[in-house]
Amino acid sequence: MAKQIQLGKSDLYVNPIGLGTNAVGGHNLFPGSDEEVGKQLVRTAIENGINLLDTAFMYGPGRSEELIGEVVKEGGKRSDVVIATKVGPKFVDGKMLMDNSPAFLQEEVEKSLQRLQTDYIDLLYIHYPDQDTPKDEAIGALKQLKDEGKIRAIGISNFSPDQLKEANKDGYVDVFQGEYNLLNRKAEQAYFPYMIENKISFIPYFPLASGLLAGKYTKDATFKDFRASLPYFQGEAFAQNLDKVERIRLIADAKGVEVAHVVLAWYLTREAIDVIIPGAKRAEQVLNNLKTLNVQLTNEEIQAIDSIFHV
Ligand code: NAP
Repeated sequence: MAKQIQLGKSDLYVNPIGLGTNAVGGHNLFPGSDEEVGKQLVRTAIENGINLLDTAFMYGPGRSEELIGEVVKEGGKRSDVVIATKVGPKFVDGKMLMDNSPAFLQEEVEKSLQRLQTDYIDLLYIHYPDQDTPKDEAIGALKQLKDEGKIRAIGISNFSPDQLKEANKDGYVDVFQGEYNLLNRKAEQAYFPYMIENKISFIPYFPLASGLLAGKYTKDATFKDFRASLPYFQGEAFAQNLDKVERIRLIADAKGVEVAHVVLAWYLTREAIDVIIPGAKRAEQVLNNLKTLNVQLTNEEIQAIDSIFHV
């Protein structure tokens, strides 16, 4: 069993490799995704020691939480998994709006609990900030849920650094989730120092830059899904990113591992990061990403990777 790492200052201890599940039942993000394949990859994750499952109401919407609830229920050991979910968005006339008002957050948590078929959520995030609610008031609602035993730890995602500081005025925030990967390292300056100072764990999303950093694409690749509009995948930037990936491949080959393992292992050398949640479309990818735990990067390798992708 992998060493369990404390998430921020919470009482949650997790395998440093978690699982991102936006493609499990996330039909609004990945049209046509097969639910059985999704459930199987979650089962595989749990059977192989992954315990942090990252989902959200927005994925589906609601369907990802339902599928995870089913898999956890059939496994019969609720306390072996750490379920992280996110509330805040609401869909009105097909449009996604944000609402962080305490009453809305509390209502949404009740619905998430039902979809997940559980009576507590280990880590609850506010998924995105709204325009109106004072951030400390929104977090106050989560603190109340924690005091009632409905959630165990408090997270926020996609808040600006100033919004994060306001949200954490009373020191209640355990985890921050934000975009970060070797191709987008802005968080290192914008968030990491505050995380370390305040014992908040930074969980990066898009750690593999939606597959680009897994080392499987060539310059002639074309994309028909949301990747077609992501900056990493555009024209000259895409070609340059692939050149950088090839330089990582030299390090990976010398160690007898794959590009994805080196990339994921590098994140775990960052002081602000305790755990990562790479997403997956198939069980094989989950098993493959777990191999990261066997990769030890030397200081020279850590610095070499740093300079390939310097900020
Ligand atoms: P990601 O982790 O950067 O990329 C995951 C994708 O990379 C997989 O779906 C798969 O896509 C490919 N992949 C994964 N492992 C691989 C391997 N070993 N070899 C080759 N390809 C591999 O992106 P993400 O899943 O969008 O982000 C991670 C998680 O963060 C999400 O699942 C979600 O839980 C969370 N998230 C949160 C927010 C937020 O606002 N808080 C936003 C985005 C995501 P293909 O097979 O299609 O290439």
